[in-house]
Amino acid sequence: MNCVHRIKCGNGNCYIVENGNTGILVDTGKREYLNRVTQACGQYNIKLIVLTHAHFDHSENAAVISESFGIPIAMSEKDIDLIKFNSAQRLFAETFFGKIVLSASLKDFKARPMREFKPAVLLKDGDSLKDYGIDARIVSLPGHTQGSIGIDVENRDLIVGDALMNMFYPTVSMLYHDKDQMLLSAEKIGNMGNRTIYFGHGKPIANRRWVKTKS
Ligand SMILES: [Zn+2]
Repeated sequence: MNCVHRIKCGNGNCYIVENGNTGILVDTGKREYLNRVTQACGQYNIKLIVLTHAHFDHSENAAVISESFGIPIAMSEKDIDLIKFNSAQRLFAETFFGKIVLSASLKDFKARPMREFKPAVLLKDGDSLKDYGIDARIVSLPGHTQGSIGIDVENRDLIVGDALMNMFYPTVSMLYHDKDQMLLSAEKIGNMGNRTIYFGHGKPIANRRWVKTKS
């Protein structure tokens, strides 16, 4: 049995998925939370860092945690351009809250470039994390960024990164590089059925239909 542990980092989350013996770290938080995340990693035998996407609030600590624990970083190839410039994939927002979050994000993207890193493992849809001791598979969830991925743990717990958000209320992503893809990914999650959804921002809740289908 694999357990998902939420590590709250301000308004964002990282997760440790572990099997009682070894584990993986999913996302790494902002630098303000480096100690908290490092401490949590120290409690488990972490074998891999998986990034749901390369925005700084998920990836800022990736380089230093990878170095201090000597563990590789895994992510989608399609987000590599974001490591150097978080603004490389333009973001859009439509809702009131979305626009607020967008303007704050763009400021941060400029003000705090990430320490660069090179992912040793490139993940794509359907990949298994068995080699790292975890019964989970990668689900491609493009839209928020091109390389956004989710981690489906034992067909029960789905970590979605920012493919969905629960910042103010549970919703499809308020920020997206590609709206059509984002909606398709949200629909894909809804179709996965019985799951607990673990967000990059906000508390976990039960899966639901995220997109109204047109009648
Ligand atoms: Zn993001």
